[in-house]
Amino acid sequence: MNTAEQYKDSLRARKIELWIDGVRVDEPLAHPKVAPAVEAVAATYALAHDPAHHGIATAFSDLTSRPVNRFVHLFRSTDDLVKKVLLQRELGRITGTCFQRCVGMDALNALFIATFEAGDVPHARFVRWLREVQQHDEMVCGAMTDAKGDRRKRPAEQPESFVRIVERRPDGVVIRGVKLHQTGAANAHQILVMPGQALRTGEEAFAIACAVPVDAPGVVMILGRQPSDDRKGTPDAGNVRYSGQQVVVAFDDVFVPSANVFLDGHLAAVSAMLDAFTGYHRASYGGCKPGNLDALIGAVAEVARLNGVERTPAVREKMIEMVHLTETIHGLGLAASHKSTRHAAGLWRVDALLANVCTQTVSRLPYEVVRLAEDLAGGLVSTMPSLADAAHPRLGPILANVMGSPERGRMLRLVEWFTSGAGSVPLRIECMHGAGSPMAQRIVIDRHADWAGKVRVARRLAGLPEV
Ligand SMILES: Cc1cc2nc3c(=O)[nH]c(=O)nc-3n(C[C@H](O)[C@H](O)[C@H](O)COP(=O)(O)OP(=O)(O)OC[C@H]3O[C@@H](n4cnc5c(N)ncnc54)[C@H](O)[C@@H]3O)c2cc1C
Repeated sequence: MNTAEQYKDSLRARKIELWIDGVRVDEPLAHPKVAPAVEAVAATYALAHDPAHHGIATAFSDLTSRPVNRFVHLFRSTDDLVKKVLLQRELGRITGTCFQRCVGMDALNALFIATFEAGDVPHARFVRWLREVQQHDEMVCGAMTDAKGDRRKRPAEQPESFVRIVERRPDGVVIRGVKLHQTGAANAHQILVMPGQALRTGEEAFAIACAVPVDAPGVVMILGRQPSDDRKGTPDAGNVRYSGQQVVVAFDDVFVPSANVFLDGHLAAVSAMLDAFTGYHRASYGGCKPGNLDALIGAVAEVARLNGVERTPAVREKMIEMVHLTETIHGLGLAASHKSTRHAAGLWRVDALLANVCTQTVSRLPYEVVRLAEDLAGGLVSTMPSLADAAHPRLGPILANVMGSPERGRMLRLVEWFTSGAGSVPLRIECMHGAGSPMAQRIVIDRHADWAGKVRVARRLAGLPEV
């Protein structure tokens, strides 16, 4: 298992094509908009070497017969799924942001199931690839979301809006298209490309799942902007250590050797992959988001203490409500994992209904926590001058009575970061859309709710005959 330093060293060996604000960046690790995101990923490597967290951060792999970092592990038991959520909560607390390895972890598990359903050859290819990923302890990002264009149209009606196979060669395929919102792509080693929606007969060219090294010829990355990202690397950043990252990844005629092609026109297996992935990933949010909220609640508690109101009943009431909402989300992530069932491929799958209810709450409750945080933090959370002003000899004395202690200034900046700065990306928009928009969850809830069973018990209680 790699250490944090080994992970960072391994990134230096890549020759990625990364663009930031219109400029090609050859040394991304040193870039202020990339470095905090690398640090957040590095925390996932560091935790695996922390004896206090060994139980949740590592697992024993039956592919390599060695301990591996849990982020490249298969969900071989209910315990694995529960520990995944506990690990995500811990890392969410440590980093206060998205640590970027969950999409890849959930995707590789989903593809294990999907390739098993697709047949021996795809499955053997995938297992060989995964064994190598485990041996090298690589960071894998999961690329599902296509540009999609007109949402009413099928991929075949607007192929340019979807990643697809454009050429077949004896030794592989060439893919073209763009994936959006790619979490951690510029900090990763490999991209696991997968379809983002179920596909029909005639849409086989879009039914491609494959692994692509981040520096394969033709892979072009464009870093997404985040609110207040110009502050990264400065005290005004709020979270002065870590940040998340999303990237637009273009596949500009990228050759993928056959050994790395896992699904190719397997329409039923694509649906199996989507089912498994959305379940896993929607339960994951029951770990990372409560962890992020822990850090926000901690920041608000500090502001309240420094304001002298932490024991005031009205303030306590709001603090308690923030904890109640946070634990509700966590409980659902754990419950979906505890109620898991075994798939024939030998992996355990979360309870789909509870996983989707989990993200449905994630699309709402963090917004209420943020509202309460903004209430308790006061207006300065969005009007405070720079911390550099507070350190200025002429301005410092003026601001001393505005910002209070330097601690208060830092805590207010952290609340700002979570609620409307770069930290609001994982804490708000990702809560809304990550792992699929709320309507996608409601469709699954409709599919898995036992409507007939509910009617049956109601009729029995009312003394009516069974129908
Ligand atoms: C911070 C962040 C990180 C992410 N990380 C990743 C990642 O690592 N990998 C990855 O692959 N993806 C990632 N995503 C993408 C995420 O899965 C998508 O944002 C999500 O699936 C919604 O897709 P969209 O953004 O294209 O929104 P849209 O699909 O445009 O949805 C916008 C709205 O339109 C509605 N809508 C869409 N289509 C229809 C329709 N046909 N009929 C009616 N209503 C419709 C939706 O319900 C929603 O309300 C990330 C997203 C965010 C915000």
